[in-house]
Amino acid sequence: IRVDIKSVGCVGVCNRVPLIDIVREDGVVERYPNVKAAEIKEILQEHFSPKSPLKKLKNKLLAKIDTIHTDLTWDNVVWHTEQQRTGIINNFLKFQYHISTEGYGLLSPLDIDEYIAFGGFDGLKGALNMQPQEVVEEVLKSGIRGRGGGGFPTGKKWEIASAKATANLPNLPNLKVLKVPIAPAISSSLSSSLPPALPSARHQQFIICNGDEGDPGAFMDRMLLESYPFRIIEGMMIGAWATAATDGVFYIRAEYPLAVKRIAQALELCRERKLLGENILGSEWSFDITIFEGAGAFVCGEETALIASIEGERGFPRQRPPFPAVRGLFGHPTLVNNVETLSQIPYIIKNGFQKYASVGTEKSKGTKVFALAGKVSRGGLIEVPMGITLRQIVEEIGGGVSGGKRLKAVQIGGPSGGCIPAELCDVAVDFDAFNSMGAMMGSGGLVVLDEDDCMIDVARYFLSFTCDQSCGKCTFCRVGIRRMLDILDKICSGRGEMEDIQKLEELAVAIKQSSLCGLGKTAPNPVLTTLRYFRDEYLEHINGRC
Ligand code: SF4
Repeated sequence: IRVDIKSVGCVGVCNRVPLIDIVREDGVVERYPNVKAAEIKEILQEHFSPKSPLKKLKNKLLAKIDTIHTDLTWDNVVWHTEQQRTGIINNFLKFQYHISTEGYGLLSPLDIDEYIAFGGFDGLKGALNMQPQEVVEEVLKSGIRGRGGGGFPTGKKWEIASAKATANLPNLPNLKVLKVPIAPAISSSLSSSLPPALPSARHQQFIICNGDEGDPGAFMDRMLLESYPFRIIEGMMIGAWATAATDGVFYIRAEYPLAVKRIAQALELCRERKLLGENILGSEWSFDITIFEGAGAFVCGEETALIASIEGERGFPRQRPPFPAVRGLFGHPTLVNNVETLSQIPYIIKNGFQKYASVGTEKSKGTKVFALAGKVSRGGLIEVPMGITLRQIVEEIGGGVSGGKRLKAVQIGGPSGGCIPAELCDVAVDFDAFNSMGAMMGSGGLVVLDEDDCMIDVARYFLSFTCDQSCGKCTFCRVGIRRMLDILDKICSGRGEMEDIQKLEELAVAIKQSSLCGLGKTAPNPVLTTLRYFRDEYLEHINGRC
């Protein structure tokens, strides 16, 4: 049997790899999870006639275009496992909805032909046939909100950047220093595949892709950057067209070397196809993107700190307003969007805002990618429609709490988020619903906790993270979080007093009110939600019962 081997991005079922998927001519996929080397021959012999379906699949991918949309999907998967026959495993994918991860397990990350055949860059082509303002309108109507944490409406951000840029463009000074901070920060091993340093004289407007993902346990952006580099580039280009950006910057943390490498290679492939650079797709539009590697500060995920970092300054957040969309990188209007947000843009433009807006809840549209982790049977990266409940994620997709234990809580949103108790896990995934419970969507960390977990320990872990990562600019964040941590240490070591609970609450309120940036404003959330929903545990620690 002749077999072609191709690499693919994240398949979404990390807990069942290595997988063999046999794509039958009728479109049904027969899936063998957790395959051992000795089983491969037997599986292939069972399925492959001399008329190799794989050969046909390859021809289909090369001839491509529309057929791939209709008959090559993972909808018809037959699992060859005991659990699957009972219907348990199937649910891992059944409840998911793929927008950011469309083509998961099918697309080779750096195969630009395959991406184009899959409908890639159709969104960009559609955008280039529209006026920039029409593209902004489309994004506004889709209802998409930023996936980086705060949930600010993406279309509003685009509208501000677009309006400001259009009004100010002729009066902006030339940006002559740009080549200094950007080029040297890029790894020398990549330099051959990178564009020349951003030329100086014509830079007036920017779009930045924020790939500075730093939440503990969260790796959504990394997966998207590594698996779908062209989709994110396409989203960025659409954003650039809509807001009249002249240059793009990928800000990716240096701890993601494969993501940096893949994006650099994908950018080069786009340039070869005239999708980037001068006269894109034969138009009069010119635009290019470069990469800046972040040095590992969590606070640089905050957009003004990120901008300071690119400018060569220390990554300190800045006072807002002015917002970056008005006055950003080197003083120019700058649109900053998160990786996941940009990965959804091509879908919106290609399929129309109505289709996107048909998924989700009234005020939270589309899908959300989560890193499902903790005490759950099947962890991994998942993409779910907004509106699904936390319980469905844990029970159906995650297969329930591991080891037959009882679900105690779900920590959502990483260090900025909070703990939602099991009895409230029927809440829908929705920005506002989480906010009303004292938690927040955050960037997408989702940790399942069982009956053995101490909620104060969980709060203390996330608070110690934010304490380490505070940039120290504001007193309440720098000193206040440290003091809260001291109190939690005291309670956990059995030396706590009743008045410590009141001190924690007072400090939390003061820190939230007085901090400059989102890190400080949200850092007390894990403590506040555990105090709200698990106060008994604090009292038990103080009264020496645990
Ligand atoms: Fe720095 Fe904290 Fe102030 Fe943000 S809130 S600027 S992280 S000290």
